[in-house]
Amino acid sequence: MIYLDHNATTPVDRRVFEAMVPFFQERWGNPSSPYRFGNQARAAVELARKRIADGFGCKPTELVFCSSGTESDNLALRGVARALRSKGNHIVTSAIEHHAVLHTCKALEGEGFQVTYVPVTSDGVVDVESLAGSLRNDTVLVSVMHANNETGVVQPVEELAALAHRRGVLFHTDAVQSAGKLPRRLADLGADLVTFSAHKLYGPKGAAALYVREGTPLASVTTGGAQEHGIRAGTENVAGIVGFAEAVALAFEKVESEGGRLRALRDRLERGVTSAVRGVRINGATALRVPNTSSLSFEDIDGESIVLGLDVQGICVSTGSACSTGEPEPSHVLRAMGLSPRDAQGTIRVSLGHETREEHIDTTVRALKETVARLRKISSVRGAAE
Ligand code: PLP
Repeated sequence: MIYLDHNATTPVDRRVFEAMVPFFQERWGNPSSPYRFGNQARAAVELARKRIADGFGCKPTELVFCSSGTESDNLALRGVARALRSKGNHIVTSAIEHHAVLHTCKALEGEGFQVTYVPVTSDGVVDVESLAGSLRNDTVLVSVMHANNETGVVQPVEELAALAHRRGVLFHTDAVQSAGKLPRRLADLGADLVTFSAHKLYGPKGAAALYVREGTPLASVTTGGAQEHGIRAGTENVAGIVGFAEAVALAFEKVESEGGRLRALRDRLERGVTSAVRGVRINGATALRVPNTSSLSFEDIDGESIVLGLDVQGICVSTGSACSTGEPEPSHVLRAMGLSPRDAQGTIRVSLGHETREEHIDTTVRALKETVARLRKISSVRGAAE
């Protein structure tokens, strides 16, 4: 198998797995239990919190562990909306956010909040002027992602956070796709709240965190125990959190060299595909992107068919559209960038990772050339018959 869908999930690093094992076998206590066996689990969670805080450049007390990036996004948006309801009920976000943010905004609209969805340029970058113009006296939160999951395009979050702060508005960024891929300490982005998730950086599924800058008003959205400073009730995923910390430490060890390696491989892929296949467009090509992601639109064919065609050859990529998540609509991200529904439908996302090698790229280019030619032939025969 050639796995080129690292933005969907990554394999658990062997060292991460090994760090987790004792917490399934010998040290499986509940961190809230009062006896020594429980205290050992608590100590492991707190050590992990410190290691992650060191990696991200924040205080351990500023991290709230959750079960997923999705939950972390929900907590940021709902928690701020609820905490600041008496101050205002307007939220600003972008048209290209992950559904964890967009669907939460829709749900908040149903609860009486007003949400402005700021557009992006044709390269997929949030329009700073539009965002500035959308801020109102009753705006309580701006939420704009750091790197987009479909195109890899990096958003100017430092600038946007500063803009929001000048108007006294809190700023959240979803850094699920940038954490561990860019040599930036997330706390330096200037955001009040930052979401990140372990399984996108060679950690386990089911562990994630929300960074909450000290003093940021945030209401709890789960009821139950007093875990996570009373913000997120529920027994902590001890093994997952330990693995998360190991993954963060490993990610920062070689973020620059790995970034350079992946960028070279991504460029090789894009050069190879554009010279082997006609009618290809690279989405977000001239914008700043995380080094591992390529969004490719092919004229006259369906991205879903390309994904299935490559799957038969043992190559895993995904569509740029939300089809893969069970939604038949063309990608809202690509549509927001001005692609027609047809072009958006003809898009695949290729996302590289630690195990990706040159030969995987070259095999994929050959497979794409053959698959696209075959699909175009079928669609032209079909077109002629109609
Ligand atoms: N935000 C972004 C940008 C993502 O890419 C994803 C997952 O693809 C999520 C949030 C959700 O993260 P999780 O899978 O941990 O719920």
